Amino acid sequence: MGAAPVHPWTGRRVLVATMHGKGAAILPALAGIGLAAEVLELDTDRFGTFTGEVERTGSMLEAARAKARAALDIAAARGAIAIASEGAFGPDPVLGFLPCARELLLVIDAASGREIVQARRSLETNFASLDWPADEARLEAFLSRARFPGHALIVAHADGRFTKGIAGRAGLSEALDPGHRPVRVETDMRAHMNPTRMGEIAALARTLAGALATPCPACGEPGFGFERALAGLACIDCGTPTGLARAELLRCSACGHEAERARRDARTHAEPGECPACNP
Ligand SMILES: [Zn+2]
Ligand SMILES: [Zn+2]
Repeated sequence: MGAAPVHPWTGRRVLVATMHGKGAAILPALAGIGLAAEVLELDTDRFGTFTGEVERTGSMLEAARAKARAALDIAAARGAIAIASEGAFGPDPVLGFLPCARELLLVIDAASGREIVQARRSLETNFASLDWPADEARLEAFLSRARFPGHALIVAHADGRFTKGIAGRAGLSEALDPGHRPVRVETDMRAHMNPTRMGEIAALARTLAGALATPCPACGEPGFGFERALAGLACIDCGTPTGLARAELLRCSACGHEAERARRDARTHAEPGECPACNP
């Protein structure tokens, strides 16, 4: 057994631009590939908040890029590597009403200007809201779906204020006191208040670390990883390509080299029940 390969970025400064404790979800995966990252706590709320006091501008990627650039500026680390994360929550664009979580991690190698992006879309989220007032049954159903009190809540008030980080019944009752004119209860999506979200970010960080640990077969740069799923898994009965993924496309953002990788579950065919021809 030989020594573990040394990552080409070993010894370089790696900054994780974060607020709300997301470093805890990201650092272990980086440590696993030999990168000792340091957390740079930013006031990332100025880049946009989930409660909308600061309107988000641009795409998730642009938001993450602004955070990573800010970290490089603040640390005066012009040649460093910066990593930033961004999340968004809302109805799934495909599945409609089901709430969907989108998480993105961006790596900027400031020495080369190169960017590596990993994104993840998942139905594993407690994202929900409840207009107030509501009756006891609806409140309890909402609290269950919101995974309260293990996950915190936010109460929006008629005057535009928010009570954030509500993690217990007493705090919730206080915030919902009619004197405070509550108008809505919603899930607190900040990572340190939301273990489900923290888990999603950690899973994405492991995917990113896997890509960072994989050198591009064409140019040797780290970061050869998942780009997108390739649809077209063929029906086992009639051979029609379905909307299911037949393979994963891997891509190098340094040189553009692409390669296909088989599905992780090794499935080679779709079932007739999943086929638009056999089961229209
Ligand atoms: Zn390459
Ligand atoms: Zn078929």
